Amino acid sequence: MTRMKFMNIEIDNVTMEEALMRIDYLIKIKKNAYVVTPNVDHIVQIETNSELRQVYNDANLILTDGKPLIWLSKLYGNTIKEKISGSDLFPKLCKMAELKGYSLYFLGAAPGVAIKAAENLKVKFPKLRIVGTYSPSMGFENNRNEIDKIVSDINKAQPDILIVALGCPKQELFIYRYREALNVPISLGLGATLDFVAGNIKRSPKWMSNIGLEWLYRTAQDPKRLIKRYFINDMKIFKYIPRYIRSNR
Ligand code: UDP
Repeated sequence: MTRMKFMNIEIDNVTMEEALMRIDYLIKIKKNAYVVTPNVDHIVQIETNSELRQVYNDANLILTDGKPLIWLSKLYGNTIKEKISGSDLFPKLCKMAELKGYSLYFLGAAPGVAIKAAENLKVKFPKLRIVGTYSPSMGFENNRNEIDKIVSDINKAQPDILIVALGCPKQELFIYRYREALNVPISLGLGATLDFVAGNIKRSPKWMSNIGLEWLYRTAQDPKRLIKRYFINDMKIFKYIPRYIRSNR
């Protein structure tokens, strides 16, 4: 069993290769599975969002996104094998999908972004099948008609893999609430990944993410939105850490 208790959640302590093998298996068994990629922001949100906690409890694969969580795992004496952020996993997933003939659907990001991401991916993975994209309107999560339209569009397209790029907690809650209605073998909430692939947000250089500073690079590109997330909300983690350590002993 790869699953281990970590902070206020459980995680699957796997390498990138193992994660891809697990995803392949979940696609094959067709049980409407979903993957979450916890980072510090998610851990903090789970403290006050009980539905998000439930999403995490029921997830089929829980990957660790972000160096800070890897460092914290050392405090527990049970080191996490590898940082697997959604944006690193995604190109590898596309490669596997191209090889095995799995199709993808992209839900989320601003108008035009998913289409541009699909175009860029087609250059790199010519045989990749992207069977649909949809950019939901602001506040769509409260609009039953739009949700029904999205679910029916996805089901008509019959993707093997659904990528939901709406940020946390919207993407996780969407997957969780509609996974019974959606007839998709596996869904992944991948945040800003489509923006990165489309090229309208730049990812930090490798050396910065390796030393755990990807968040700083992103904040410099979008300070208005991200200062609040990284410098205020996520700092609450320090308040929770002593409790996590005590309860994991
Ligand atoms: N987004 C969206 N609809 C919404 C809220 C967000 O399509 O109602 C998209 C937004 O355009 C961006 C992504 O969701 O593409 C949010 O990415 P974020 O930066 O929050 O992701 P993370 O930091 O988790 O990678």
